Amino acid sequence: MMPVYGGMECGGTKFVCATGGESGKLLARTEFPATTPAETIARALEFFQGQPQPLESIGIGSFGPVDLNPASPKFGYITSTPKDGWRDTDLLGAVRRAMGLPVAFDTDVNAAALGEARWGAAQGLDTFLYLTIGTGLGGGGMANGRLLHGLVHPEMGHIRVPHDLRADPFPGGCPFHGDCLEGLVSGPAIEARWGRRGETLPPEHPAWDLEARYIALGLATWICTLSPQRIILGGGVMRQAHLFPPIRAHVLALLNGYIQAPEILERIQEYIVPPALGGDAGVLGAIALAAMAQ
Ligand code: ZN
Repeated sequence: MMPVYGGMECGGTKFVCATGGESGKLLARTEFPATTPAETIARALEFFQGQPQPLESIGIGSFGPVDLNPASPKFGYITSTPKDGWRDTDLLGAVRRAMGLPVAFDTDVNAAALGEARWGAAQGLDTFLYLTIGTGLGGGGMANGRLLHGLVHPEMGHIRVPHDLRADPFPGGCPFHGDCLEGLVSGPAIEARWGRRGETLPPEHPAWDLEARYIALGLATWICTLSPQRIILGGGVMRQAHLFPPIRAHVLALLNGYIQAPEILERIQEYIVPPALGGDAGVLGAIALAAMAQ
């Protein structure tokens, strides 16, 4: 029998739970809204406990901030999140105690990055970024074949980008920083700026070129600092596929020919791409994470 793993993609809006093996195919899948921690975690446990095959281990990719330091007393916790009721939630501990299995834990974006590295758009690459732009903006990925961790974990959404208040008077929506990148480009920021949800704005609406330019400012920063071999853009906002061409054009203009790589100069449509695994990148990545659990 092939080993079967469990994966949990824990987002601020919804949780996706699934089982699968080494093939990258899902055996079972469910999703439900992220309500209270107790109720949401109970639904995940119920799904895993109801599986016909015994699971080897479980991988969790979670929204954050999270504590990824195995030596910390709060390892596996969601820490300083602004999401109501979720501050200081022991996600890893709750799953490990209930399931009695090894559990691996990382950020939601690192899990999705791992999924894309294993089965998707980052196969064969050792240094790449995976960004999700939706409720917030999260960034993860790999450098030299290892998932990006560090002191805590990268918080790419909270960098500062030039913000011309005359052209865009919206003050930004981040509760910590106002007009950090996340505060300018997240789905809730689009809705607060224009008074309508992003998916109701037509492709020619000026919202989108502004959005593309801010995202490109972030990408140009990370291209210069991390030298990724590819950048994958997922999340609810990026389901607006018409954003890709203007983002690529703004990145080329911002870099202005300085980075002499044909991947960028000649093949940028293969350099800034959507996730090959679509909406399942996160949960497939959590399954890949589970296969690495001790
Ligand atoms: Zn911020």
